[in-house]
Amino acid sequence: MPPGSKKVFVKTYGCQMNVYDSERMGDALRPLGYAPADGPEGADLVILNTCHIRERAADKMYSVLGRLREMKAERAGTDRPMRIAVAGCVAQAEGAEIARREAAVDLVVGPQSYHRLPELLARSRAGDSAVIDTDFPVTSKFDSLPARTAKGQGPAAFLTVQEGCDKFCTFCVVPYTRGSEASRPVARIIEELEQLSARGVREVTLLGQNVNAYHGEGPDGAAWSLARLIARLSDVPGIARIRYMTSHPRDMRDDLIEQHADNQKLMPFLHLPFQSGSDRVLAAMNRKHTAAEYLALIERVRKARPEIALSTDIIVGFPGETEAEFEATMELVREVGYAQAYSFKYSPRPGTPAASRPDQISDEIMTARLARLQALLTAQQTQFNRSCIGQTLPVLFEKPGKKPGQAIGRSPYLQAVHVDAAAHLIGQIAPVAVSSATMSSLGGVIVSR
Ligand code: SF4
Repeated sequence: MPPGSKKVFVKTYGCQMNVYDSERMGDALRPLGYAPADGPEGADLVILNTCHIRERAADKMYSVLGRLREMKAERAGTDRPMRIAVAGCVAQAEGAEIARREAAVDLVVGPQSYHRLPELLARSRAGDSAVIDTDFPVTSKFDSLPARTAKGQGPAAFLTVQEGCDKFCTFCVVPYTRGSEASRPVARIIEELEQLSARGVREVTLLGQNVNAYHGEGPDGAAWSLARLIARLSDVPGIARIRYMTSHPRDMRDDLIEQHADNQKLMPFLHLPFQSGSDRVLAAMNRKHTAAEYLALIERVRKARPEIALSTDIIVGFPGETEAEFEATMELVREVGYAQAYSFKYSPRPGTPAASRPDQISDEIMTARLARLQALLTAQQTQFNRSCIGQTLPVLFEKPGKKPGQAIGRSPYLQAVHVDAAAHLIGQIAPVAVSSATMSSLGGVIVSR
C-alpha cells in the first residue's frame, strides 16, 4: 500500500503518555499506508485515544462518538467509508460496553494492545461486529512496534520507558487500566532514543505512570534503576537534555537524587506529586508516605541541586477531608514553594475504593478550597518566573511563535520562553537574557555567543 493512500486521525486526550501512544499508533499504521489527517473529516480511520483521569471522561467520549456516528453515516456507501476506534484508558475500563452503547464503533483497543491495530483492523473489515481487544498481552507492544519515523515533531520528544502501577492509590484507576508495573529493557530504550536523536531531537522526557519505579533489564542482565538508565542515555550523541515524569515519593531513591547533583544533562526540574498535606488523608489515599517524609525528600533533592524547580499534583476534597486537613495541604505548599503544579477537585472513579466512601465532600466546598489553593499556586508560579528576570538561561527552541520571526522554547525549568528574531534557532539551544515574566511564560533576548 503506497504511503499516504489512507488517512488516520488520532484525537488524544489526557497525559503525555497518551501523546506518546498516539504517535506510536501512527507508527503501527504507517506500514498499512496510513498518513496523518488534520481532522476526522478527511480520515478513513478515526481513533479516540481516551483518558480516564478527568471527570465524566466516558460521558464526553460518548458525546464525541455521537458526532462521529453522523459523519460515518454520511460516508457509508461511498468509496471512502470511515472506521472508528476507541483506544486508551476508557477503552480499557469500559471494554465491550462501548460497542454496545455506540454501534458506530468498529474497534475497542486497550493501551497494551495498540501494536495489534493492523491485525484488529483486518478483523474488523472482515466481520460485522465490533472487535474488542483489552488484553494485557504477554508480548510487550514495544517489541512489536515499528521504528519511530514520524517527522516534524520538533526537538523535544517523549519516550515511554515504564507503564502501569502497583501502588493502588484509592482514588486512581491506573492500576486497573494500565496494569501492573512493567519496564522496557534498556537496549530498546537506547535504540529508540538513537532514532529520535537522528531525527534532530535534543531533549527527551522519559515517561511512566510511576517512572522512578523503573527497573528494566540492562545489557548486563541486571535490573537497572531509572538513575542508571538516565546516566546511560546521557551518552547518546545529540541528546542534550533529559527529563522524567511522573514520580512517586516512595521510589525517589538515593541514586536518582545523586543524578540530579551530578548529571548536568538531567534538567533541574522535578514533578513529585504529594496529593495532600494531611497524614490522615494520605493514609486514606494509600499513598504510603507522610507529609514529613515528603518534606524530608524535598530537602534532600534541594541539597543535591539547589536551583531545582519543583512541580506537583494535589487533590482537594478527598472524601472526609476536613477544613484543618485542607489547611495542612496549603501549609505544605507554602513550605515547599512550587514553580508549577496541577491541582484538581477529587472526582470519584468508578471501581476505585474511594468512590464508594459515604463521606464525599460537596462540590461547593471543593470549589472554594480549590480556588484558595490555586490562588496560592499561581502566586508561587508568578514569583518563580519573576525570579528568573536578569538571569541568562539556555533555551531549547521548539517552534515558531505567533509573531513573524518569533520562536518559543523551554528553559531548563520547563518554562515557556518567547524570543523575537529567533526563528532560525529552532532545534538549537541558545542563551537568553530573561527580561520579562508572567505567570505562564518568560520573555527575553538572545545573548550573542
Ligand atoms: S502512584 Fe500514581 S498511577 Fe499509581 S495508583 Fe497512585 S496516583 Fe495512580
